[in-house]
Amino acid sequence: MRNIEQIYINGEFVTPHGSERFDLWNPATARVFGQVRLADSQDAERAIAAAKAAFPAWANTPKATRIAALQRMYAAVAARQDALLEAVIEEYGAPAARSAWMARYPAEVIAQAIEALEAIDFTTRAGAATVQLMPLGVAGLITPWNSDAGFICGKLAAALAAGCTAVIKPSEMSAWQTQIVTEALHEAGLPPGVFNIVTGRGDTVGDTISRHPDVAKISFTGSTQTGKAILRNAADSFKRVTLELGGKSPTLILEDADLAQAIPLAVQAGFMNSGQACVAGTRILVPASRKAEIESALAQAVAAVKSGDPRHPDTEIGPMVSEKQWLRVQGYIRKGIDEGARVLVGGEGRPEGTEKGWFVRPTLFSDVHNQMTIAQEEIFGPVLCIIPYRDEAEAIAIANDTHYGLSAMVLGGARAGSVAQQIEAGRVLVNTLTHEPKAPFGGFKHSGVGREMGTWGIRAYMEPKSILG
Ligand code: NAD
Repeated sequence: MRNIEQIYINGEFVTPHGSERFDLWNPATARVFGQVRLADSQDAERAIAAAKAAFPAWANTPKATRIAALQRMYAAVAARQDALLEAVIEEYGAPAARSAWMARYPAEVIAQAIEALEAIDFTTRAGAATVQLMPLGVAGLITPWNSDAGFICGKLAAALAAGCTAVIKPSEMSAWQTQIVTEALHEAGLPPGVFNIVTGRGDTVGDTISRHPDVAKISFTGSTQTGKAILRNAADSFKRVTLELGGKSPTLILEDADLAQAIPLAVQAGFMNSGQACVAGTRILVPASRKAEIESALAQAVAAVKSGDPRHPDTEIGPMVSEKQWLRVQGYIRKGIDEGARVLVGGEGRPEGTEKGWFVRPTLFSDVHNQMTIAQEEIFGPVLCIIPYRDEAEAIAIANDTHYGLSAMVLGGARAGSVAQQIEAGRVLVNTLTHEPKAPFGGFKHSGVGREMGTWGIRAYMEPKSILG
């Protein structure tokens, strides 16, 4: 059994005041492999006080000091890649390609923040004024389970680059990843209180951070429902807020798409991170004139996707993170059937050869229209919908007919760029799945508020001050 007993406040590992024990599960075996002792609101208060005390000195550090600190963080996190790999397989069930990326990414995202920090001018001119970018204060950073270590490092690196200090509330379900990252960050030797890590429940620790008057900024990644609660809680003290929330992203296959290129991209976009990705392209919009051909090609591709043991090198889809998440996905598959969608591949239940563990069958629905629940709500599992359209205008209208607006993909020839221009989403990928870390990342509409990554991500922790005369 792996027991995680301490949190991190003011440069030290300490025993929390909170005494609740929370089970850590291996989703591939549905067995408990450890426990974490959770922080409570009192621990959150202590962490906020430490970050507040550390703020004036950190806010006044020169850029070179921050870059040096981030470089030490990078080196320490990069050195934990093997440990992180084991944790993301055991604790999260990430299969081979994804787990390798999840183990590398926490260090990479710190390196990306260093590059962005180097490019920022903290003082600029605007007419007669000198404009100075000022750090906001204590930042509360709240992360989800689907890429916990990456989100901790990405948010923390941006906050520290800006001159903020931080209180991090990681997902309580990812305590092992958090512990590995915390040990690395401790080794980086930053001044005490500059960052503090309090693993606890959302409705206690998360709630305290999002209401506390000494927290000036919240950066949250998670569900749209929790994002709304945080936005309300933050209002009383006018916190600046960055919210990275859910999605129901469209993949538009255009009339002239080359299917040999488009089908693998559409399937990868839909099934990334075992379908537990905010950016997953789960609505596949296809021209009615090519529906039969595309249905058949997609069905063949989805049927070939292996869902099962995350340690098997051929596995592309691992288990859902929890029983709750497994039941949620099963519920949506049933709902799709009840609402009249046709299962082309997959369906309810577990894939053949799996008995224990929260495995789901990669599922492809056809005969879906955009008002069905499975086309409107975020499922957060490997469930894709094929939605036919008559012409380009209708394709764009369907793509935009959603509360969400996080990501989209357009697959096709000459018209692809023009279609991309008309999609309401924070990011549109045209014939590619490649991510650009220098570009802003975030959502339109209910997919979020503000942007992360690149210089936009660091500016989100600062406020401009104009000095005249
Ligand atoms: P969640 O909203 O349940 O939890 C996210 C975090 O918020 C956790 O740390 C949780 O403990 C905390 N939390 C819960 N209630 C809280 C409250 N009242 N106050 C403060 N904090 C609270 O989300 P999840 O289930 O962990 O993650 C899945 C969701 O995250 C999906 O909806 C997905 O789309 C979204 N997500 C978005 C992005 C993005 O960048 N846009 C990336 C990954 C995941």
